[in-house]
Amino acid sequence: MTRVYNFSAGPAALPVEVLQQVQQELVDWHGAGMSVMEMSHRGKEFMQIAAEAEADLRELMQIPGNYKVLFLQGGASLQFAMVPMNLLRGRGKADYVNTGQWSKKAIGEAKKFCQVNVAASAEDRNFSYVPPQSEWRLDPEAAYVHVTTNETIGGVEYDFTPDTGDVPLVADASSHILSKPVDVSRYGVIYAGAQKNIGPAGLTVVIVREDLLGHAPSGTPTMLDYKIQADNESMYNTPPTFAIYVAGLVFKWLKAKGGLAEMERINIRKAQKLYGLIESNDFYQSPVAPANRSRMNVPFTLARPELDEAFLKEAKAHGLVQLKGHRSVGGMRASIYNAMPEAGVDALVAFMQDFAARHG
Ligand code: PMP
Repeated sequence: MTRVYNFSAGPAALPVEVLQQVQQELVDWHGAGMSVMEMSHRGKEFMQIAAEAEADLRELMQIPGNYKVLFLQGGASLQFAMVPMNLLRGRGKADYVNTGQWSKKAIGEAKKFCQVNVAASAEDRNFSYVPPQSEWRLDPEAAYVHVTTNETIGGVEYDFTPDTGDVPLVADASSHILSKPVDVSRYGVIYAGAQKNIGPAGLTVVIVREDLLGHAPSGTPTMLDYKIQADNESMYNTPPTFAIYVAGLVFKWLKAKGGLAEMERINIRKAQKLYGLIESNDFYQSPVAPANRSRMNVPFTLARPELDEAFLKEAKAHGLVQLKGHRSVGGMRASIYNAMPEAGVDALVAFMQDFAARHG
């Protein structure tokens, strides 16, 4: 078996233990005589798989009882539309904080449904920081406040939980969900595409406070109404069964590792190793303000960009892949989600040190 260290932003590396379990159970799941892919979503085996996945996620994130957990499709991108569809509650306005490319996408979609107030924007400094809440200009009539708590492309992560009082706070947590404990009760909605820190693409997790259900206007398509999804336990139609099964195995893997507090400790250590090397070496730069450097997505540039190609080629030869930065920003980006072993970060740091020594 040859596994590389895969630094892709998503779909991203999965824990090898989970992949091996999937392999072992693939053809005949627990004596069912079939794979999970082939099971009825309404049969007792799959119902049990889905119920356990939800229970384990609730335990990991300590999700309060007055929140629903939805397993949907359409990616985080569909949530850019479902959030205004379900949360405007007859109001015509919503607040958005613009911290980068994913905030911009969310704002663009929301504009199809309401008047968007950009309460703060980091565009003035090329999306390299999170504007402190003291600088936000919230609209008192806004139906909700939307934030992107980790910008996957810019590598910018919130270092605080915004306080929006009685106005529901909505977070796109796609690229750092499960990387640390969060106080779910501070949010009205948390949503995330699965393909980074949860499981395979095709599954979207939405955690929504119950009082925010049932407000979609009457013309809302059935599948896009949170309440209908909640009332049907995410099985109004056929859910992405295999992705839910694999996500459930990832949740069990996280529990066995010690839960989210332990993951946070590991993630801090991994991120510090990488940022530490970048800081200590003039050959590499981080474009992000230190307080908002993401623990999950680490963009960096080489002092001599003409060496980018050689860097990527040599890294690949060392089994370190998918390090090319997003096409919109260039440079490099190492995504180091939960499933990236610390040994992978160590290998990257050692390679970067050696590359700088040879070319610096
Ligand atoms: N939000 C963030 C923060 C993301 O990183 C991504 C995917 N890279 C998206 C939204 C879009 O997710 P999806 O592809 O699941 O629609």
